Amino acid sequence: MIPSPIWHPFTQHGLDEAIPLVTHAEGAALFTDDGRRIVDGISSWWVTTHGHCHPRIMAAIAAQTAKLDQIIFAGWTHEPAETLARGLVAIMPSALSRVFFSDSGSTSVEVALKMALGYWSNRGAPRDRILVLQNSYHGDTIGAMSVGARGVFNQAYAPLLFDVGTVPFPSAGAEQRTLEALERACRDAPAALIVEPLILGAGGMLLYPAWVLAEMRAICARHGVLFIADEVMTGWGRTGTLLACAQADVVPDILCLSKGLTGGAVPLAVTMATEEIYAAHLSDDRARMFYHSSSYTANPIACAAANANLAIWREEPVLERIADLAARQQQKLAKLAELPFITNARQLGTITAIDLPDPSRSGYLSQLAPRLLAHFLDRDLLLRPLGTTIYVMPPYCIQDADLDRLYDGIAECVSVIDGDHRP
Ligand SMILES: *Cc1c(COP(=O)(O)O)cnc(C)c1O
Repeated sequence: MIPSPIWHPFTQHGLDEAIPLVTHAEGAALFTDDGRRIVDGISSWWVTTHGHCHPRIMAAIAAQTAKLDQIIFAGWTHEPAETLARGLVAIMPSALSRVFFSDSGSTSVEVALKMALGYWSNRGAPRDRILVLQNSYHGDTIGAMSVGARGVFNQAYAPLLFDVGTVPFPSAGAEQRTLEALERACRDAPAALIVEPLILGAGGMLLYPAWVLAEMRAICARHGVLFIADEVMTGWGRTGTLLACAQADVVPDILCLSKGLTGGAVPLAVTMATEEIYAAHLSDDRARMFYHSSSYTANPIACAAANANLAIWREEPVLERIADLAARQQQKLAKLAELPFITNARQLGTITAIDLPDPSRSGYLSQLAPRLLAHFLDRDLLLRPLGTTIYVMPPYCIQDADLDRLYDGIAECVSVIDGDHRP
């Protein structure tokens, strides 16, 4: 057979690691061409909320394909987008009255940054400095990388990344240092602070308390600095509530949503903003409009999928399902945490994480990581450690037997770690 011409994301093809071929999926299970049933322990990279091929979402997509596939969205509109925008305004915090569409988490962040700069520019008081939280991740486009942590992932592109003000991560016991640094940074009139609320995902599933999030929001409000919440991972119930911000009673000025927006079925993103930010772009002057678009902005089929997701949220006991999954995971995590090689067992809603010892101290590039991947694949599990951090973030519909297989697979990692100590 001719070798595949595909260049995969975040994949070192030079290592010749196995790339399973998935033919179909249902609920929390993926099926491969060689007849295996794989448990999806990470919701296919944090997107699948209600389960793969959810019947209501698939039906909505099928119905929409018979009506309207794609239409220019600059100066034109369509019913799925209108319904979705109204549905989002109804379910999200009421101050977020405006909905701008794009197609990925990264672009929703780019849009948020451009909205913030446009807001200040249109008010005649331009500001361009963005504050960020240490260890954050906001996507892989140049702007999104600029507001994210610097490391091996973006070293080659560093010359193109813009400078930001970094506030230290509020680790346990050092929260005050974070708040003081933010307070100081806010005095220099930055445009905005962007944060991942309550949990830094790609940064290693790092948790910080709700009161710190609330304090950060309050400091920004006091200084008139815009507060951007990137809920691309945390949104849609991941952390136990519809938005993570809700646990801190925080309403951002700008909100980024993607991943679970369509239940994880097709790509779509929104950036929601307050009336004040929208109004700053409102004028009879064309020079002040919001200059952003991409070809597939508010694609009707994607909007139909998102409308089905909203209907599931409105009509089904999604939060109860999430609470039940969180409770089951809490028990399994507690058992796992008793193992001597496991540290920092932690949980937020449907996300659990643990750390393994990293004798090489090489973080994301730890030699342990590829061996762990192979270990999980051997056991028909889709788990993808962040360096030596292993996390579980399953679809909300996962059955207990599959959840047990994930946690048993992690417990069995001890064989991989023992290997790591050997010369
Ligand atoms: C995944 C993620 C993004 C990027 O989303 P893409 O759809 O992969 O571009 C941005 N922010 C956070 C917090 C994420 O977890």
